[in-house]
Amino acid sequence: MELSVILNTIRNKGGRITKVRRAILEAFFQSGCLVSQESLIEYLKKKKLSPNPSTIFRELQFLLENKIILKNTINKVHHYELNSGHKHYHFICSECQGITPLHLHNPLLNVMEGLEQQHQFKIQQHSIDFKGVCASCL
Ligand SMILES: [Zn+2]
Ligand SMILES: [Zn+2]
Repeated sequence: MELSVILNTIRNKGGRITKVRRAILEAFFQSGCLVSQESLIEYLKKKKLSPNPSTIFRELQFLLENKIILKNTINKVHHYELNSGHKHYHFICSECQGITPLHLHNPLLNVMEGLEQQHQFKIQQHSIDFKGVCASCL
């Protein structure tokens, strides 16, 4: 999904594209993975934007409600990332809390399709995090 597609989706729903909203989406695109609220605020600062925390909270709620982003709480810290069809997983280090995106593609999706058929259950959402210790912390 491209930024322009997401902006159009928001416009079609009657939403406005504010500077902050656009910058938040840009931050997600630039990261391509999980972004904490803290790093989001840092990104906005670099763009000379300093919305108050409640604005950022409302923006994140808006994007979550419209399924544009997903929430992933890691070690009690909320992280967000784009809800792209291109699903990936994460290695999460328990020492430095570092997050590494992990692209698995087909194997896991094939397993899920098998499970759906076997159990007559339509999986709409799933989340898998691999927690452990990263190379620099070993
Ligand atoms: Zn990610
Ligand atoms: Zn680590």
